[in-house]
Amino acid sequence: MNLHDLVVRGPEPDLVFEAIRTVEFELSRPPADLLAQTDAEGNEYVLYRVLVRLHHHPLGFVLVDLAKDPVSAEELNARIRDELGPAIRAHLRADGMAEDSDDISPLQPADGCHFSLLPTGPSPLASVIVCTFGRPRQLRAALRALHNLSYENFEVIVVDNDPSDPTTIELISSEFADSPLLRYVAEPRRGLSVARNSGIAVARGDIIAFTDDDIVVDQEWLSALVGGFDEAGDIVCVTGLTLAADLESPAQQIFERYGAFNKGYETLTFDREVNPSNTLLYPYTAGVFGGGGNCAVRVRSVDGTFEFDSRLGPGTQAFGAEDLDLFLKFIMSGKKIRYVPVAVAWHEHRRSYEDLRWQMFTYGAGSTALLTKWLLTDHRVALHFVRLVPKIVRLLRHQSSEANVEAVPSDLRRLERLGYLYGPMAYLRSAFVRRRGRSATLESVASSTPSDDFGTLRKRGQLLVVSPHLDDAVFSCSGIVKGVHKSHVHTLFAGDAPRDRPLSQWDRDCGFVEGAEVMEQRRNEEREALQRLHAIFTWEPHLQEGYRLGELDQGAILAGLAKSIEAVRPSVVLFPLGLQHSDHIAVASAMWKIIDEQLYPQVAWYVYADKPYADRRPSLVRSRLLELKSEGHRINEVKLPRDLRRGDLRAIRSYASQLRGLQISAVRMVLPRQRVWRVVPSSDAGHDD
Ligand SMILES: [Zn+2]
Ligand SMILES: [Zn+2]
Repeated sequence: MNLHDLVVRGPEPDLVFEAIRTVEFELSRPPADLLAQTDAEGNEYVLYRVLVRLHHHPLGFVLVDLAKDPVSAEELNARIRDELGPAIRAHLRADGMAEDSDDISPLQPADGCHFSLLPTGPSPLASVIVCTFGRPRQLRAALRALHNLSYENFEVIVVDNDPSDPTTIELISSEFADSPLLRYVAEPRRGLSVARNSGIAVARGDIIAFTDDDIVVDQEWLSALVGGFDEAGDIVCVTGLTLAADLESPAQQIFERYGAFNKGYETLTFDREVNPSNTLLYPYTAGVFGGGGNCAVRVRSVDGTFEFDSRLGPGTQAFGAEDLDLFLKFIMSGKKIRYVPVAVAWHEHRRSYEDLRWQMFTYGAGSTALLTKWLLTDHRVALHFVRLVPKIVRLLRHQSSEANVEAVPSDLRRLERLGYLYGPMAYLRSAFVRRRGRSATLESVASSTPSDDFGTLRKRGQLLVVSPHLDDAVFSCSGIVKGVHKSHVHTLFAGDAPRDRPLSQWDRDCGFVEGAEVMEQRRNEEREALQRLHAIFTWEPHLQEGYRLGELDQGAILAGLAKSIEAVRPSVVLFPLGLQHSDHIAVASAMWKIIDEQLYPQVAWYVYADKPYADRRPSLVRSRLLELKSEGHRINEVKLPRDLRRGDLRAIRSYASQLRGLQISAVRMVLPRQRVWRVVPSSDAGHDD
């Protein structure tokens, strides 16, 4: 029996239970009666948690029981006034409005709400990262909410941490295929930290925000997070208020009472000295700053780079605490974190009691795993803890955590304590597993000459694909272009035909009747395909065979390629084998010249088989490989993972005119796998196989 089975085993307590519906009430809008609502099965809810907001700012919950009758607008107003009066009055006072007006709706302060965080000036680009692990139902709701955000300038990066399960990519390619916002990244290495880091690696925004696949964000969520950063740049991270969505099961209600997420309704700013939360073990208390599913980091304020510790977090031996670890890193380095409750996100708590048992255990384990890491790595933390020991002992004797423990059944508190005990060992195990994994990778790189691990390509950053014509990169390696973090496609022969030149036979085969439209149309097709693959692209105006009047200027091709490599600064370059077509052969030979010069030692070079020539005549590939060998060039074929070796059908379909000319369907183009070889670095080329 494994650890998980041991932890979740046990009787479920018999709890009196009534499902609770969550609704919102904005005080500045005309009031409405609270009417009964029904769940998916048609059962009417009786209990309602009403989140009361004023000028969008959340003030608190009022619990309403509709057991007898619907509650009228006046009654609801009176209840809210009664229970949240001080908060309402304080807000109105700050806005410079009459505090005691009973008529609180509709009202808007003349010069804007005092608590508004909406950024002034242009909105910086924000990248929202949502990692998912085979939960398409929840992910759908999460993505719909993200597409509904009021913020103007953002992208959404979905990191699929279980790409072998097709349900996520199916959801994205069916429901969100036309989304201009969405980018998809496959990350087969298990773990939330690893997945988030993959998202960070491709993110283009200066603000990187995180949410989860079981979270539905409020429309103003991203605006509020971005607005939480200050002009001065001291605030490196902004967290928001995460609230429970409907509470449909006892486990969900217990978790909510445990108070894992809700940090209150005041904006707070944290740093090493200032602890507005007043918790004892500050800043090491789990959740004190907010959670990793509702936060944003400004890249500029962390010197351009940050990442989650892959030894911590869900999917590792240490189960969690990767978010608190990151927050601690910020705080211990003297930076500030701001908590803005107006950034509201709704979390769907785990429904089953078994999941709740596991969650309590892993929360406990995660928090002491984190402490172990910090005690072992930062002597300031160790010193601080020596001073805290008496308080910690008292704390452990009297309560299991600083959360609201009375409401939590004793078996769950016991599991949390067990988790505390297990955590330090969990951290050491996780650290050991990672170290072992890392040295194994180093070994394999050292022993077998070329690393044929395309997984490393995925996380290594910039890829440059060299494409002779406006289709070769996508026809030959769209799987890689799509699957790799940052792809840049550079096309050489993208120039317009000379004006009065008659159409070539090839252009007529492609269905063109007029010369001026040909390259225009091809560039449009290319643009459509590459946008779909989330690739950046650049074009050189060289004239392709059939358009050129004189000889091909080999020197200009070479210079253009070198310039492109210097501008893009790739860690990996992919270029054609050079089959059949004179333009392809010219590009390939220019690339080999560049490689032989050894001017770019940081670049790993890869070669792709030019489609459709390679598929139609495999003998072309064989003879070209022999030719390269005779020239002293060594390349080894790479075993591509499935998602990288399969082309993207929709992208290939973008090239309607080219496909017509080639008399091949997009499906026929996609079916034969894409082939890639790694160029053996010349320092290794002297060795024999
Ligand atoms: Zn206001
Ligand atoms: Zn071509």
